Amino acid sequence: MKMTNGEGGEKLRFAIIGAGMSGILSAIKLREAGFDDFAIYEKASRLGGTWRENTYPGIACDVPSHLYSYSFAPNPEWSHHFSPGAEIQAYFEKMARDYDVEDFIRFGSEITRCQFREGRWHLATDEGPCDEVDFVIAATGVLHHPSYPDIEGLDRFERSLFHSARWDHDVALENQRVGIIGTGSTAVQVTAELIDRVKSLSLFQRTAQWIMPQENPAYTESEKRDFREKPEQIYRLRDDISVLFAQNFANAVVDADSPQMKLIEETCRQNLELNVKDPVLREQLRPNYRAACKRLVISPDFYQAIQKSNAELVTSEIANVEPKGVRTQDGRLHELDVLVLATGFRVDRFMRPIQLFGIGNKSLEDAWAERPAAYLSISIPDFPNFFMLNGPNGPVGNFSLIEVAELQMAYIIQLVNQRREGRCRYLCASQEALENFDAARTKAAKSTVWTTGCRSWYLDDRGIPAAWPWTFDHFREAMERPDLAAFDLIA
Ligand code: NAP
Repeated sequence: MKMTNGEGGEKLRFAIIGAGMSGILSAIKLREAGFDDFAIYEKASRLGGTWRENTYPGIACDVPSHLYSYSFAPNPEWSHHFSPGAEIQAYFEKMARDYDVEDFIRFGSEITRCQFREGRWHLATDEGPCDEVDFVIAATGVLHHPSYPDIEGLDRFERSLFHSARWDHDVALENQRVGIIGTGSTAVQVTAELIDRVKSLSLFQRTAQWIMPQENPAYTESEKRDFREKPEQIYRLRDDISVLFAQNFANAVVDADSPQMKLIEETCRQNLELNVKDPVLREQLRPNYRAACKRLVISPDFYQAIQKSNAELVTSEIANVEPKGVRTQDGRLHELDVLVLATGFRVDRFMRPIQLFGIGNKSLEDAWAERPAAYLSISIPDFPNFFMLNGPNGPVGNFSLIEVAELQMAYIIQLVNQRREGRCRYLCASQEALENFDAARTKAAKSTVWTTGCRSWYLDDRGIPAAWPWTFDHFREAMERPDLAAFDLIA
């Protein structure tokens, strides 16, 4: 029988912050490990994280559905090889129900302050203190604080304007003149979805993107029946996709000279050469940097969409926004009814704006004064018993963040067990371990494709990729077992 308590029969209490993919996972895994005293704090009134917040037309996950599911909860019902956002949201809602997680979620509770005092974490919302726990798991996501562009006049636009992650579904799109700023994964999905619904679509491109063509067939009823009747088929498929993903993509991007990287580049180049007919448009769409230097955009239909007669790729730089539309540097005013900011996210925020104070009242703002850092993306020196899922410097981008979070959570449970088994009361990575990790990842980052000459959200303020710069196998190995020598264990 599993112990539910720490040494001496004490009951360990946990707070999970965020009820998205990794928050729900944390709850399931804590209970599986025998810990049932926890609360999940969720600022919104619904779970789902990124899938709750991003509801833009055309949203789908470009990680294959059977890999973008919990390993322990395969879903035979995925409609497509790459499923739409609403289906993924429904999957997480079902997971929370199936695993009895819902009752642990405190909706509408935004944690604003966490302080480590007298051996425990004291949590508060704007309304005051709300909990006192032994461990905090920050499952607050990465790509969730919208980045608003600094474009003069945005606030003067007199029609509808919103960020892609704050889509206003009350705004009609049919027969409207729609403008989209940005050419990342989001903008590309929105463009392909809207082109046949709107009167005109102006895509404001600051930087061209390489596009990896990827068809997205629906699963047939007979395939789904097979998955239902023989779940082992899903497991096999998942393993196969996981290996393919790691070998052909995850390992490729961290070795800019690898043959797999060359194959990705050639596939993207062929996609452009073969599928964009007009030579002028083709050159406008041709990036001047290597494929996957920016987060690779995956789309089966973007090039078709942008070549339609009601689409315009606007490459003249944006000068300003005016009440009636967007003025570009060539002097043209692009009159619009709807302007969508598909301008991405502030990726350096993580659990902020939570005010976090560790040992000796050290603030996270001080610890991260230069930039966010965490040992193996999980633990911050002087912030004991506080662990992050999908924290800084982990594998983000074209990976299944679910696979990443599951590996991290298994590692975190092993850290928690140090307390349960009486080896310490608190633990966090040592400063030395963090510095060594940071030095090693900074060095390794030089061989990645992310440093080959482009602007991207992978790069920190020094131009060094903040993402995990090694292979996915290396990540798996690192997550297998904590090296306790890297931690300060406090009795
Ligand atoms: P993004 O990749 O950061 O792209 C933002 C776009 O906005 C870029 O094209 C950028 O241009 C442009 N931009 C920003 N500020 C601008 C300005 N002032 N003027 C003109 N253009 C400006 O954001 P995203 O497309 O939302 O995607 C973010 C990440 O979310 C993706 O990389 C991916 O990891 C994830 N995502 C995943 C999926 C999926 O299917 N799994 C779908 C959507 C998003 P520059 O390139 O010149 O900077």
